[in-house]
Amino acid sequence: MLKRAVIKISGEALSGNGEAFDDVVIDDIARQLKELAGVEISLVVGGGNFWRGRTGKSFLNRARSDQIGMLGTVMNGLYLSERFRTFGLKSMVMTPFQVGVFTWVFSKDAALDAMNRGEIVINAGGTGHPYFSTDTIAALRAAELEADCVFYAKNIDGVYTADPRKSPEAKKIRRITYQRIIEECLQAVDIAAMNISLEAGTDSFVFGLNETDSIIRACQSAAGEPTVSGTKISVSCEEEYYV
Ligand code: UDP
Repeated sequence: MLKRAVIKISGEALSGNGEAFDDVVIDDIARQLKELAGVEISLVVGGGNFWRGRTGKSFLNRARSDQIGMLGTVMNGLYLSERFRTFGLKSMVMTPFQVGVFTWVFSKDAALDAMNRGEIVINAGGTGHPYFSTDTIAALRAAELEADCVFYAKNIDGVYTADPRKSPEAKKIRRITYQRIIEECLQAVDIAAMNISLEAGTDSFVFGLNETDSIIRACQSAAGEPTVSGTKISVSCEEEYYV
C-alpha cells in the first residue's frame, strides 16, 4: 500500500470554459483525494491557467515574469484549499517564501506533521526561484518528504517517444528510466525534475488527469494493482511500450 505520495496538478488542468477554475474538475480531484484517505498526500499545484513565465510579454524580463507565474500558483493553492474544505478535506497551503498571513512557509517537519494528521499539504509558489517549473518542486518535495512516488497529472496521458500531437508514429511508453528520458530529452516532464528524482531514487508516474478516477488508479498502480494507462519512470527497469 502506498504510504506517502506527491501529486502534481498542472494549472491548466484546473481551468475550463474560459475560466481560471473549473469546479467540476476540481470537485472530482477533491472526491478522489477523499477516497485516498490513509495515503499521506502532498499536492503541488501549477499556474499555467494564469501565467507561464516563458510566454510572458516581451517588456518583462524572465525573472519578473516567473515571479508572476509563481504568484499564480499561490492563487491556485488558496482556491483548491477552500474548495477542498467544502468536501470536508483539511489542507494547509505551503509556500517556499512568505505570502503574509495567507500561507505557511514550507518546512519538512510541519508538512509531515500535517500529513500525519490527515491534512493535505498543498505546495504553491514553486521553488521560489525563476527558471524552474512546478514539476521541479514536485520532484524536490517528493525527495525531501521521502514520498513513495511522485505523480504527474497532465493533459497528456504519459511519456511518448515524440510529441503525439505532431508525430502520429509516436509510441506511448509504459516503463522507462530517468537516464533514457534525460538522454533523449523526452518532453512530458521537466528535465530538471527528472534529474532530481534520479538522484533521489524516487519513482515517478505520468498520467492523464481527464481519465475516470485517474488519480486513484495511478496511486493503486504504484502499489502494484491494476493501473490507469500511464508511464512509470524509475532509476532502473526494462523499457516497455504500449502496443
Ligand atoms: N515558476 C517559477 N519557478 C518555479 C515554479 C514555477 O518561476 O519554481 C513560474 C514559471 O513562470 C511557470 C509558472 O510559475 O511558468 C507556472 O508554473 P508551471 O508552468 O510549472 O505551471 P503548470 O504548467 O504546471 O500549470
